[in-house]
Amino acid sequence: MKFYFTTLLFCAAFSAFAQQEITVQELKDHISFLASDEEEGRFPGTIANEDVVLYIDMDFQKSGLVPFDGNFLQEFNAKLRKSGEEVSTWNIIGFLPGNDAKLKNEFIVLGAHYDHLGKVGDSIFHGADDNASGTAALLEISEKVATHKSELKRSVIFVAFGAEEQGLLGSTYFTENPPVPLSTIKVMLNMDMVGHLNDENHVYMGGAASFPNGQELMKSLGAPNGINPIVIAYDVGGSDHVSFFKKEISVLGLHTGGHEDYHKPTDTADKIHYEGEVKVCNYIYDALMHLATTTDDLYFIPEKKEQTEN
Ligand SMILES: [Zn+2]
Repeated sequence: MKFYFTTLLFCAAFSAFAQQEITVQELKDHISFLASDEEEGRFPGTIANEDVVLYIDMDFQKSGLVPFDGNFLQEFNAKLRKSGEEVSTWNIIGFLPGNDAKLKNEFIVLGAHYDHLGKVGDSIFHGADDNASGTAALLEISEKVATHKSELKRSVIFVAFGAEEQGLLGSTYFTENPPVPLSTIKVMLNMDMVGHLNDENHVYMGGAASFPNGQELMKSLGAPNGINPIVIAYDVGGSDHVSFFKKEISVLGLHTGGHEDYHKPTDTADKIHYEGEVKVCNYIYDALMHLATTTDDLYFIPEKKEQTEN
């Protein structure tokens, strides 16, 4: 596998030492790189896509995440939506082991897709919010969890999914070829478009009723983080967490809402609300740490159909 380096941007983003707190500058470094013209919209099967995969792989290493079987990369074939062509692409997977003798065999998954729509003619679809924002959040939250890894009871898996825009292909492959038994994955948190926090500080999320006390937890963590959570019981939407929900795993799909730049070349890094994204990251970090440290049982709660049919 050959990688092409965009050396200057690449080095800039790795110049800072690993640090505990999530900062505007770190998020900006990641998103400026991922959504740059050079990365050409991170389309599966392109050299730019491989470049981004390596960037995430190196960041996972730098943060001290642990690979499964010595390799952060899970390769798979993606059938492209428009052309029908099959290309090789990757999920990037790392974990941090829990410290409780029993609970360390249970896993919380935090995920975000890194791919986007590539380019059409001369137009680059930058995908800064969709989903360089979620990828940057994944890198920063995983780094922060790593500095608190001694507190973990459950183990935590971090996944950057490939080929989401081609039909949730990376997350589907992950759930068909999981690094741990699916029954040991207790909750999957997904971040897709978390960079446009509005003036009301709304973070939207679906699936909170699929695990015990999920709605109460997500509401209670809002105020301390300056977030107004819009907590939806089910209605799990259309991103990578759906692949887990289909396997009867509890999920929460988090985002800061749609906007006019969605799936347009104008979804650019300068439009990200970086201070807002720091707040979103800390909110999700708190949720993740709660789930990874609580001794309460975690289990899947299916939607009660009779409630919605009336
Ligand atoms: Zn997306």
